[in-house]
Amino acid sequence: ITFRRWLLSCNEELTDLIDSLIGEGYKQDASELEKLQKYLDDEAVLNKLLTIKQEKKTQLANVIKEKEGIELDPSSIFDVQVKRLHEYKRQQMNVLYIIYQYLQIKAGHKPAHTITCIFGAKAAPAYILAKDIVHTLLCLQQLIDNDPEVSPYLKVVMVENYNVTYAESIIPAADFSEQISLASKEASGTSNMKFMLNGAVTLGTDDGANVEIHEFVGDDNIYIFGAKADTVIDHYAKGDYHPQDILNNDPELRTLVDFIVSDEMKSVGDPESLERLHNDMSYKDWFMALLDARDYIETKVRAINDYKDRKAWAKKMLVNISKAGFFSSDRTIAQYNEDIWKLK
Ligand SMILES: *Cc1c(COP(=O)(O)O)cnc(C)c1O
Repeated sequence: ITFRRWLLSCNEELTDLIDSLIGEGYKQDASELEKLQKYLDDEAVLNKLLTIKQEKKTQLANVIKEKEGIELDPSSIFDVQVKRLHEYKRQQMNVLYIIYQYLQIKAGHKPAHTITCIFGAKAAPAYILAKDIVHTLLCLQQLIDNDPEVSPYLKVVMVENYNVTYAESIIPAADFSEQISLASKEASGTSNMKFMLNGAVTLGTDDGANVEIHEFVGDDNIYIFGAKADTVIDHYAKGDYHPQDILNNDPELRTLVDFIVSDEMKSVGDPESLERLHNDMSYKDWFMALLDARDYIETKVRAINDYKDRKAWAKKMLVNISKAGFFSSDRTIAQYNEDIWKLK
């Protein structure tokens, strides 16, 4: 990714902080971001980082208020999944987390921190199941907004017409970077890199460039969960993945899936669309959302808990920024030239 767009232009506040700490050499050689490592225990720097994130969240809240007419609480966790809408990227698994959180709150268990789940996506117009997933998210958005028991703790917003301009406001404001594709399916991903560069912490599967991000930042600064690629490939080879097997062994998960077609959901949405998604997830689930759903929910609950320790969290943010240099397209292009093009 180009750091001109995904840092210097979209996050001037963070750029200025980095300039003041390590000079401007990183703009020519992004590996110099590693110099930020010497500030990992500098309380003043960590506080500045948190202040900047807060500013970017307030700015995004203003953009969303203007464009969508929706009010966000900038003191909540901004948990962001923005990317094409595709079953392999598993927005439907995030749907199950939202239902879990909704039902927990209804049962009197508040989350450790208020959370705003922000979605943006595009899909091919004929992709029916993608529309069903969007529809389900919008139903949850409405159901939660209309429920004063839940809305103080949980909010869902799906922005309209997600594009690069929107991404330039959303990504600098993210606390959590959702990179939850089924292991073996994502060639690389690039939003994962944009997010880490802006100090978001990844919740991700062992897939695509999440694997490299994990190696660079270490176990403490990323939340990796879910089945590994070899397990997934083995299931496809044997044809032995059946969502009903998982649901039979996990009644709580079945409750979450079945909520998609509950009276509450049907009262705000189109029953046919909700039934279609429910049926697909219950009997097909080609991209194995149910395989990882339990681990995903538990991992996210842990991340929300960790977020409350603001200093420890700021350190995770700084580690992510300091290790992002490898993903600069300047480095990629120089290496292609070195290895392949050999231009002088
Ligand atoms: C970076 C970017 C993408 C790619 O996102 P992934 O999460 O890597 O799939 C898609 N759309 C927009 C607008 C982007 O900026």
